[in-house]
Parts: sequence; structure tokens; C-alpha cells
Amino acid sequence: MQRRKFIKDTLTGLPLLFLTPTLLASCGKDDENINPNGKTVVVIGGGISGLAAAKKLKEKGFTVIVLEAQEKVGGRMRTDRSLGVAFDEGASWIHGPNGNPITNLVSQSGANTFLTSDDSVEVFDTNGTAYSDTVLTNAENQFESALNAVRNAGTQTQSFQSVFNSLYPTQANNRLWKYMLSAFLEFNTGGDISKLSSKFFDDDEEYNGEDVIITNGYDKITDFLAQGLDIRLNTRVTGIDYSNTKVNITANGSNIEADYVIVSVPLGVLKNNAITFAPALPADKISAITKTNMGNVNKFLLVWNTAFWDTNLQYIGYTPDTKGKFNYFLNVKKFTPANALMTFAFGDYATTTESMSDNDIVNEIMLHLKSIYGNSIPNPTNLLRTKWGQNINSYGAYSYATNGTTTADFDTLAKSVNSRVFFAGEHTNREYRGTVHGAYLSGLREADKIIDLL
Ligand SMILES: Cc1cc2nc3c(=O)[nH]c(=O)nc-3n(C[C@H](O)[C@H](O)[C@H](O)COP(=O)(O)OP(=O)(O)OC[C@H]3O[C@@H](n4cnc5c(N)ncnc54)[C@H](O)[C@@H]3O)c2cc1C
Repeated sequence: MQRRKFIKDTLTGLPLLFLTPTLLASCGKDDENINPNGKTVVVIGGGISGLAAAKKLKEKGFTVIVLEAQEKVGGRMRTDRSLGVAFDEGASWIHGPNGNPITNLVSQSGANTFLTSDDSVEVFDTNGTAYSDTVLTNAENQFESALNAVRNAGTQTQSFQSVFNSLYPTQANNRLWKYMLSAFLEFNTGGDISKLSSKFFDDDEEYNGEDVIITNGYDKITDFLAQGLDIRLNTRVTGIDYSNTKVNITANGSNIEADYVIVSVPLGVLKNNAITFAPALPADKISAITKTNMGNVNKFLLVWNTAFWDTNLQYIGYTPDTKGKFNYFLNVKKFTPANALMTFAFGDYATTTESMSDNDIVNEIMLHLKSIYGNSIPNPTNLLRTKWGQNINSYGAYSYATNGTTTADFDTLAKSVNSRVFFAGEHTNREYRGTVHGAYLSGLREADKIIDLL
């Protein structure tokens, strides 16, 4: 996911104090005031939010058990190395590395990074001609103004698309605008513009600095955080009973007791009622789970014997008719030895790809590449792909504000229940939702809430 740094006119000039409430909130108690006294915390989910919470609580002396449904930790930081190159199925970039807590974990975990540049891109029309720099710069400036105009005209109930189409009827069908609406906006937010809130679509915050990409696998960071923790893999939680003083957690047909539980499963898992809560969660929590949405983004890695594209470029853009369809390519050759491109499907088209065969996927991608590089380019030798929408461990890529939601819904997702059931995960971090750092900070925040109870 690449976050273009579009200026938000509502935020310019705000002091840093107002931009980092999560960090400021996560101070916690001094070590000498803590006596966990044998208290047990069960963390459900071994993604970065759950691991961050577990590591911090263990360091403070709690007995911590992590229950993870899959065969490995990491969740949406999942790396496939089967083709000899690290293909990150979920997160790839550290968005805004300056002051970003993930930056501190890079060297400790053995992750390698490459500094990316949004400007190292060539965008091609369907007839294979490249858009000029002037056309692209003007379009991006107009796009930035359009985002501000939609945000200002937007209402809580209208989608981004409905407000945008009424303000910019001509641009709505322009292929370069469709490219920017999906490769920039839908990629950033996770939501298809037809379901994205016109008012709160980008009211989250960001750190500064050009994004860096992890080149040897984002799972390096979650593997590092997992070191020394008691993690039970292949353990899928189905029930949480918090009607008594001790919380009773059902997983794989057995029960585990804890003093506190941190639920760090993705929003999609909560929306699908994969975990039964007894008693039922409070009405405001259920309403927030129902109203906020999980978006979809899929990734496709294609490998060739030799590269036929300009290997100096970092990104290649393409402007097809269908919004969200294989319109953005990351040149993997730029930072690894592999002759590989990674492309994406965004929003509703991401979901369409999940019922397509590998052959259909390759054919559609090759149509785009052939119109840029000519009909003689070969088919890839290998393809790796994701299907985040139907993945039962997340039911989508990351959360976003849909029309009907308010910013407060993300805060409600973070609220604990009865001081025993705590909630972490990217979707619980209003300021940095949809990101690795947002998830990480949410885990530290929930650990601090439990520490503060002592
Ligand atoms: C395609 C894609 C691209 C992305 N790109 C970026 C990027 O470049 N940069 C960035 O900052 N962010 C990116 N993100 C977002 C980032 O990956 C997530 O915000 C972050 O990893 C979420 O961490 P988490 O701990 O909240 O959830 P997860 O990582 O999803 O962890 C939750 C864990 O809970 C487990 N679980 C689910 N159900 C159960 C159950 N019933 N019992 C037990 N365990 C369960 C899951 O298996 C999972 O391991 C991307 C995500 C996707 C999908």
C-alpha cells in the first residue's frame, strides 16, 4: 500500500500534539509500581498488534498466552518465499518512516529496507503512450484539490463516489482519474470509492518521510516480536465467556481461563461473528463493528526469466477502463535480483479477481503489459496471488470508514468491556488505522490499559 502524501486542508497547521494522541496515551506505569501477581492474559491473534501487546505484558511480568488460528504468526504481515523472492502478501511498506515505531524494529529484526519514491513512475495510456510529466503533475494537483472539495462537501451518509461524481461529472469517466481514484485513494484507504465515506475517508494521520519498502519480508518483524512468547499455533478461538470474574476462552474445543483477554483478530473476523461473546458485546460495540467496513486489496507477483520493462523505474502506471484493475506495477527488480513485477487489484475489482482462474489473471495482466511493451513479451513463468476477501483469518485487507460511519466508531472498536475484554488491531486505531504501525501501537495501548489496572 502506498500512501501518497496529499495535503489535507483540514489538518494543515495543527501542532504535533494533536496529531499523535495514540503515542501520547501509551505511557504506562513505571516498572516499580507493577506487580502482576500471577495474572494471566490471553491474547487472541498473533498479528503485530497481538504480539506487541503480548511482548510488553510479558516484559512486565504477566503470564501471557497467544492463541493464533494459523500455522504461523504475522497475520497480515505474511511473506511467501517459495519463488526465491520475498513476496509480502499483506503489508510491504513502512508508511512515513520518520518517527514511525516500526522503523525502530527494522534493524533489531534483521529486516532490510529500500527507500521508495512516488515520483519514480511512468504512467501509460491504453495505446501504450506515456502521459507527459506535465499532464501527470497537473492531474495530481487537480486530484488533490478534488479530495479537499469532496471532504468539504461530504456528509456522513454519502459515499465518496456520489459526492465526487456530482462535483466532477467529467472526471468520473476519465481513465487517468479512475487510475488516481483507485491506485492512490482506494489503495490508501482500502475502500472502493462507492462505499468510502465522503466525509471521513482520510481523517486518519500519517508520519513524515518517503515510504520505505521491506525487501526481505515483513514477517521478519513479527518473527522478532514473537521471540520467547508462549504462542499456541493452529488454535482458533470460537468463544469468549466473560460473565464471571475469570474470562473463559474456547479454542479448538478446549477452554482456557484468564484474568484478561485481548482480542486482536481483524475487524472482518468480528463482523463475521466467528467468535461468540457471552454475554453479548455492548450495543455500541456491535453497532461500530457493523458500521465500519473491511476493504479489499489483492496483490499479484509475476516472475519472468528476463526483465522487459525499464528496470530503473520503481513504479509503472496504466489507465484501463475498469477502475482498480491491474493499473499499478511495482518493479521488484529495482530492489531484489528477481525479474518480477507486483501488481494490484483494488476495491470491488479486488473481489472480482478472487473468482478468476490463474490463467485468466495472467491473461488480463498481460493485455495491459502488451499494450505498453508490445505483443512479443513472454508470459510470466510463475504467479503468486492473494485472496484477502475470502481469507477466513481476516475477511478483507484493512478497515476503512464507509458512508454511515463516523470517526468515533473506530474509538468504540477500541473500547474495553468490563475491564476484562480488551480490543487491539489496526481497526481499533482511529489515527493510524489500516497500517502496520497503527496495529502495533494499538497492541501497546491495550497492554498499558491492563498494566494501569494493577
Ligand atoms: C494487501 C495488504 C497490503 C497492506 N499494505 C500495507 C503496507 O504496505 N503498510 C502498512 O503499514 N500496512 C499495510 N497493510 C495493513 C497491515 O498489514 C495491517 O494493518 C496489520 O498487519 C494488521 O495487524 P493486526 O495485528 O491488526 O491484524 P492481523 O495481522 O490480521 O492479525 C490478526 C491475527 O488474528 C488471527 N486470527 C483471526 N481469527 C482468529 C481466531 N478466531 N482465533 C485465533 N486467531 C485468529 C489471524 O490469523 C491473524 O494472525 C496491508 C494489508 C493488506 C492485506
